[in-house]
Amino acid sequence: MAKFKRILLKLSGESLMGEKGYGIDEKRLGEYADQIKEIAAMGVQLGIVIGGGNIFRGLTGSKKGFDRVKGDQMGMLATTINALALCSALNAIGAKCKVLTAIRMEPIGEFYTKDKALDLLSQGYITIFAAGTGCPYFTTDTGSSLRGIEIEADAMFKGTRVDGIYTADPEKDPTATKYDDISYDEILNKNLKVMDLAATVMCRDNNLPIVVFNMDKVGNLKKVVAGENIGTYVHP
Ligand code: UDP
Repeated sequence: MAKFKRILLKLSGESLMGEKGYGIDEKRLGEYADQIKEIAAMGVQLGIVIGGGNIFRGLTGSKKGFDRVKGDQMGMLATTINALALCSALNAIGAKCKVLTAIRMEPIGEFYTKDKALDLLSQGYITIFAAGTGCPYFTTDTGSSLRGIEIEADAMFKGTRVDGIYTADPEKDPTATKYDDISYDEILNKNLKVMDLAATVMCRDNNLPIVVFNMDKVGNLKKVVAGENIGTYVHP
C-alpha cells in the first residue's frame, strides 16, 4: 500500500549517466522507468523533475568562459533532453507519460501550467516537468520544490546516489552518520549539503516534507512510497 497519494520525484541528471562519464546510460534509464511505472501502478500520482548535470551545468560552463545566463539555458535544455529520454522509456514499457516545459517549446512538450499538470496527474499520467523553473541562476532542486508545492504534493522525494542525509559527506568522511529524520532548520543551521538553500527554504516555508533516499538501488522507490524508513525524512 502506498502511503503517499501524490509525490514530486526529483531525479538527478548525474545519476542518469550510470557507469558512463557523460550522457544517458540506457540501463539506468530503464531501471528508473521500471521503478516509476511500478509505483504509478500502485495509484500514486507522480510529478517528476529531472536534473541535467549529466549533460551540462551553467555554473561549470561559466567557469569555462560561457555566459552564465546562456550556460543556464543550456542546462535547462539538458534537463529537457533527460525528460524526453525518461518519457520515451516510460512509454516504451506501456506507462502513460507527458512532458510539460517551463519554457515554451511546443511540440517538444506543452507549456507548463498548474492546471494542466493537475489535469494530467488526475488522469493518471506520469508528468515530467522539464527545464527547471525556466529561469537562470536556479537549479532543478528549486524547480522541484516549486513544482512540488504547486501541485500540492504530499512530499518531495529526492532520489540521490547516497541513502540519505549524513552528518558529513559519507563519500569523503568515513565517520559520517546518517540521520533517519531531521528538521529543515537543522539542515540550514548545520549547512548540510542536501539541496541548495533556496530549495530547502521553499520546502520549509510551504510545509513540503522531503524524503532523501538512494534511487540507484532498484526497489528503493517502492519502499519509500510504502513509508519504509530507508532514507532521511525532513520535517518542520
Ligand atoms: N538550470 C537553471 N534553472 C533552473 C534549473 C536548472 O538555470 O530552474 C540549469 C543550471 O545551469 C543547472 C542545469 O540547468 O546547472 C542543470 O540542472 P541541475 O544542476 O540542477 O541538475 P543536476 O545537478 O540535478 O543533474
